[in-house]
Amino acid sequence: MLNANRDRVTSGDNTSAACRIISCMAAMPEPSLILSFEDARHLVETHAAHLRPRGKELVELLEGAGQVLAEPLLADRNFPPFPRSMRDGYAVRAADLSRLPASLEVIGEIKAGARSEDIPTLQPGQAAAIMTGAPAPPGADAVVMVEYTSGSAGRVQIMKPVAAGDNIAAVASEAKRGERLLSPGARLDFTAIALAASVGRSRLLVYSKPKVAVLSTGDEVVDIDVLPTATQTRNSNTYSLAAQVQAAGGEPVLLPIAPDEPGRLRELIADGLESDLLLLAGGVSMGKYDLIEQVLAEFQAEFLFTGVQIQPGKPIVFGRVSCGPGRLARDLPESSPAHAYFFGLPGNPVSTMVTFELFARPVLEALAGMPVRKLTFLKARLKSEIKTKTGLKRFLPAMLSGEFEETEVELAAWQGSGDIASMARANCYVVIPPDRERIPAGEWVPVLMR
Ligand code: AMP
Ligand code: MG
Repeated sequence: MLNANRDRVTSGDNTSAACRIISCMAAMPEPSLILSFEDARHLVETHAAHLRPRGKELVELLEGAGQVLAEPLLADRNFPPFPRSMRDGYAVRAADLSRLPASLEVIGEIKAGARSEDIPTLQPGQAAAIMTGAPAPPGADAVVMVEYTSGSAGRVQIMKPVAAGDNIAAVASEAKRGERLLSPGARLDFTAIALAASVGRSRLLVYSKPKVAVLSTGDEVVDIDVLPTATQTRNSNTYSLAAQVQAAGGEPVLLPIAPDEPGRLRELIADGLESDLLLLAGGVSMGKYDLIEQVLAEFQAEFLFTGVQIQPGKPIVFGRVSCGPGRLARDLPESSPAHAYFFGLPGNPVSTMVTFELFARPVLEALAGMPVRKLTFLKARLKSEIKTKTGLKRFLPAMLSGEFEETEVELAAWQGSGDIASMARANCYVVIPPDRERIPAGEWVPVLMR
């Protein structure tokens, strides 16, 4: 495949291009760069671990939702700042309940937000009515739930024992003043937003989103506002990738569709390498017009792998281009990273989507400021038997169904990696190890959520 492409370009291009081809021949990827899934994923994780975000910015709290924290988040006071009742009931001294039922004198009522000067001190034999979130009074060491009491005429009868500490969150038991609650790199999901709100932060320092160039290739691919001829294909990859980039915390930069022609491909790849990460889709398989590797080699690309033993997505390419002086005609500031990373994702839409999730996401997340996460699978019971061929690790679109603890999974009926409709109906992938030919119904199988 590679030789055929090289011949085609050398004979069809001008002299200076031919010179570039001579230099690229030395840099063409080794055919042996086809890795197992696990090795490929580890390699990506290793490279991702060295990547850093491009900068930081201050944003309003809600604007930061989904972004990545770039500063430590500290507790501005003790949490809770007072001994907080966790139940509606009666604040008591646990020692007063050694014999049940116990009858205690009720000396007052404490509601949430009560001022400390209004709170009575409990003496032996006394109780105070208390609400959830209210400060427990001095002298009390537990709260009895209202369900286990009955009260009348200034007294309360308690039917159930409590131990000291029951139903009271002690001062600073959740966090001490000044303690670090979140570290830089935390993705600001709704729990992190709640935490930031609870320490009074209306603005947060977040990492700038990485710019991720998306370049779809193929002579047959047309943009979505063009009416395709009978044999043309609308460009869905640019849009699925852009949506995946956004969901993973990046900012997509949409490049025009590249034809299967080295000159224009070269120009667009050069544009794409200006971003923090370049995602190419299409043009990495064995076809005569699959030119991506060849054109990347002209940029002295270092190929880290050129295939992974998976389905869908086997021809995926991962590599980087050095940004050092003289390597690329780019005017880069001193602080720029040493490399621009790229992925050449297979163009079949399902392959593009799956390979993004399996390999491009960790690099993007690292550029967004997140620590590299291991890929983890859940397990679900297989609903119907799967028959397949050995040799590749498969990530097949599937549906989780069932209710409560009875989760089942079954493969989506699909016509191969071009079947976007089937993929859109699926909600997960069943992971099939390369050595399995048949998996019977009822077996617990690994599932990758999407
Ligand atoms: P390739 O990886 O270039 O060999 O393309 C594999 C298949 O994916 C072909 O059927 C292409 O027409 C299709 N394809 C390639 N790029 C796109 C795209 N951007 N949107 C939708 N389908 C595409
Ligand atoms: Mg193509």
